[in-house]
Amino acid sequence: MVISHFHADHFLDIPNLLIGSKEIRKEKEQKLTIIGPTGLRKKVMDLMSFTHGDGDQHKYDKIEEKYNIEFVELKNEEQYCALNFKLTALALQHGNCVPVNGYILEKQNQKISYVCDTTFCENFDKICQISDYILLDVNGLETTKSHMGLQDLKKVCTNYPKCRFYAVHRADYDIERSDQIAFPKDGEILEIEE
Ligand SMILES: [Zn+2]
Ligand SMILES: [Zn+2]
Repeated sequence: MVISHFHADHFLDIPNLLIGSKEIRKEKEQKLTIIGPTGLRKKVMDLMSFTHGDGDQHKYDKIEEKYNIEFVELKNEEQYCALNFKLTALALQHGNCVPVNGYILEKQNQKISYVCDTTFCENFDKICQISDYILLDVNGLETTKSHMGLQDLKKVCTNYPKCRFYAVHRADYDIERSDQIAFPKDGEILEIEE
């Protein structure tokens, strides 16, 4: 599981997800790796204590053991390597929110990236230059200091002809669709060509 930043809409479901998936993962002996920006473990602990702590300050002292999970905190340009993929974190710019990580997943010569809530910035450009596919949060039509707008994205993406963009985290726009930007539905599965 990969977390970009600690705003509620990107992070708040973790307690239910950990509790809900515990038995399933135990049966399959699957450890869940949760990757996120610096401070991830503390944020999850605070959240668990707030929602399910029941007044016991030490209830989650052994959270890794309790839920069979591990935390990986990545700073800008740090990498996490697993057996068959590599993940690189790149800091993005989302108003005053810090830290905010976007990610590049490299697997079998394909680069699939996740660009969370961000406005246009240097690392966004870097991600676009090397990615084959990008899932990105496009919040509205107009660009602000926190979010990129779809109108500008439509222009900017033509600079990266080899990259395919998937706009998520969006309101429903009444805007002419673009060949380079797809608008997937909730739950839609994207098939990556090898
Ligand atoms: Zn946000
Ligand atoms: Zn958001």
